[in-house]
Amino acid sequence: MIFLDRFSFEQDVSTRRFACRVRHPELPEELHFNCEGSALPICGTPTANWAVMSLLWTAMSLGEDVEVGHCVSDDLLHTIHNDLQSLLLNYHPQLKRIRVHAFEVSCGGWNGNGIAATGFSAGVDSFATLALYRRPEVPADQRIECITLHDVGSMGPKSRSDTIFRQYSARAARFAESAGLNWISIDSNLDDFMQMPNSDFIKTHTLRNVAAAYVFEDHFSTYHYSSAVTYEQVNKGNRSTGLIDPMLLPLMSTRAMRLVSSGAGLSRIEKTRLIATDTNAMQLLDVCVGRVEHRAKAAKPNCGTCWKCSRTLVTLDALGVVDRFDAVFDLAAYRRNKYKAIRYIFVGQLRKSPLDQDLMRFLRARNFHLGSSTAMTLRARVFMLRDWVRRQLRRRYVA
Ligand SMILES: [Zn+2]
Repeated sequence: MIFLDRFSFEQDVSTRRFACRVRHPELPEELHFNCEGSALPICGTPTANWAVMSLLWTAMSLGEDVEVGHCVSDDLLHTIHNDLQSLLLNYHPQLKRIRVHAFEVSCGGWNGNGIAATGFSAGVDSFATLALYRRPEVPADQRIECITLHDVGSMGPKSRSDTIFRQYSARAARFAESAGLNWISIDSNLDDFMQMPNSDFIKTHTLRNVAAAYVFEDHFSTYHYSSAVTYEQVNKGNRSTGLIDPMLLPLMSTRAMRLVSSGAGLSRIEKTRLIATDTNAMQLLDVCVGRVEHRAKAAKPNCGTCWKCSRTLVTLDALGVVDRFDAVFDLAAYRRNKYKAIRYIFVGQLRKSPLDQDLMRFLRARNFHLGSSTAMTLRARVFMLRDWVRRQLRRRYVA
């Protein structure tokens, strides 16, 4: 059993701290979320929904029930005990079904403050969600007015994430102020609870970020979670919760806060085209997956050569707008490595990566120059040889 008790809720107009004690021999003793932001509401009677969502994956990994010494919403408990766990078990069959026992069950709803919010990573998906859900024709309760930034594992281990989190928080606040939005930054030690096998950030990111959003369930009526995949790719694999978002998010919604998988109707190329005229994106776009330590010191936020920079830059190049993004990418490095980047995408296509398959189709349709066909053929042969060797080794190992 995992026990959650000694809940504390401290808040004023610009900060909020939710914490609780955790009792289990394999887990840290306290879970906390420290938040800062512009114009935070004062929450009347907070629930423990944020703590339950934080510990759900961990409890299922350990096969331990959870006893909560505070109030949990009845609708959240109901979905946890039914389809939410069924979906997670289908996604990762090594999990175990558990029960959550709450000291008190709440049947009410906050109805929030009617605010719609979204996480802001400054990536393509993030800017695309803002472009889609800030338009005047979007219904008021879904039109984004607030951005959030979470330190729940995406910035590396908690012991090393402080510098980059402070930089990203300042960037989110600057962007929010210039774009007429409110902002909230949420710092948590949740990652310390996700150290079991198969609990890495990519595998569990939706659960972690939704737990952070739950700290503001009194404030948000709609929380847009930017989709990283299209509907066509849903439920094809279990590498990332992104692959089940359109099914998972409705199951984590309550009558107070609706969670939406936003932008799943658009491909990555369509999203990139959508943000190609966005002056904020030209100044702030950040897609790089280079080393956090290097990125913290670099003059521009994107290295221009990692696989994610490469894919984004090749797309912008094929759209004829790559020079607009000179402020945020090392374009000289991209140009030196351009054909290598295209070969990575080519290999991604051979590996059946849907994003790379889409991009190669797009490049060919636009007659984009792909570089030397000899180099491409060589790369394909190397890939097929490596793949053959890997299969032989796996067969021998399994036998
Ligand atoms: Zn990069």
